[in-house]
Amino acid sequence: MECPQCKQVIDNVMAVEQGSKPKENDLIICTMCYGINTFDKDLNLVKASDDYVESIPEPMRFEIDEFVKDLKLRRAEDNAKLN
Ligand SMILES: [Zn+2]
Repeated sequence: MECPQCKQVIDNVMAVEQGSKPKENDLIICTMCYGINTFDKDLNLVKASDDYVESIPEPMRFEIDEFVKDLKLRRAEDNAKLN
């Protein structure tokens, strides 16, 4: 699965419903660019539209923010180890 925004292969995803099969309108956060992606009706990973992002409920947006914060923290730690 490739991020439509940064073209990196996504190996670690955050789906709205954990453990369920990918389906249309699932929310997928790219762990490289933190872009918000979703599946279209043919299960192609596409960049989420502004409308889609607007429609994300507040608690979910909070979760996304926390998830991205955690990713950034982990990446900073990985970078620190390399230096
Ligand atoms: Zn990306």
